[in-house]
Amino acid sequence: MDCDRCGDDAVMHAAYSGAHLCADHFTRSVEKRVRRRIREDSLLSKDATPEEPETWVIGLSGGKDSVVLTEILYETFGKDPRVELVALSIHEGIEGYRDESLAASEELTDRLEMAHKVVGYEEEFGVKMDEVVEEDPENMAPCAYCGVFRRDLLESYAEELGADKLLTGHNLDDEAQTALMNFLEGDVRQVAKHFDASLGGFDEREESDSFVPRAKPLRDVPEKEVALYAHLADLPAHITECPHASEAYRGEIQELLLKLEENHPGTRHSIMSGYEELASLAAAAYDSSEGGELKECVECGSTTSGEVCRKCRLLTSMEAI
Ligand code: SF4
Repeated sequence: MDCDRCGDDAVMHAAYSGAHLCADHFTRSVEKRVRRRIREDSLLSKDATPEEPETWVIGLSGGKDSVVLTEILYETFGKDPRVELVALSIHEGIEGYRDESLAASEELTDRLEMAHKVVGYEEEFGVKMDEVVEEDPENMAPCAYCGVFRRDLLESYAEELGADKLLTGHNLDDEAQTALMNFLEGDVRQVAKHFDASLGGFDEREESDSFVPRAKPLRDVPEKEVALYAHLADLPAHITECPHASEAYRGEIQELLLKLEENHPGTRHSIMSGYEELASLAAAAYDSSEGGELKECVECGSTTSGEVCRKCRLLTSMEAI
């Protein structure tokens, strides 16, 4: 099959749009979608200047998604004096897994000459993820602990690095899976939180000192296309799966979505467009009914809805063993 735009050999066919694209046009199409998302989300504040630039902290795991995000952000803003890019990597303490992906992250940030901060569960919490899995004090899946610890470190270090925005590499498949999981679980509160984590429109938002605002500039790009971009650009992405990966339910949803997408191209896009509208309505409803009451955790000072945050409660249950 030939490229629709130049007649060269096509490297991909997107059933949801009908496009056949060669390597060059495919690469440009991914970059265009990411830049459009950044623009539509008003990610770069109008107040950013060369004298007072914005700091964007990128969550860089070394997997294909965050590596592609870092590369495109660098290509777009690397020479823009209104933006400072800083990479932040989390070392969970997983034998034979994270060291390799951190090496990929370092290779990338060294080449781009980008500031790169690495923080680990062991140094920060006194425990490695491998030990958490072995002890399992709450009888939960590994990812349930790991997600709480990672969120805590991303948020606290983004703040320490002076971040105006925290950017993560979630792609279209990740987002559509999460949307469907929340919907099937009937978790409307989680749907409302998605609004904060995923939607931009930063110019429209009220200032909040509770969290560094988050953005997901890859969220319009399907996972397979992110992988193909990483391959074509020869990026140093680490692709081995974590040995503790345990989200069986997510795996089921992933299979279901791939099947639906195959039979009904465009399903992921339509899920997300409806879900984002729903999320914004749910967020507004919870805000007005609860007044957004957030407190400081009495143990660590991070923002929480209760007295003690979830991370501190998990650490306490680890200590009790
Ligand atoms: Fe952590 Fe689960 Fe990711 Fe492994 S797969 S790094 S345990 S969240």
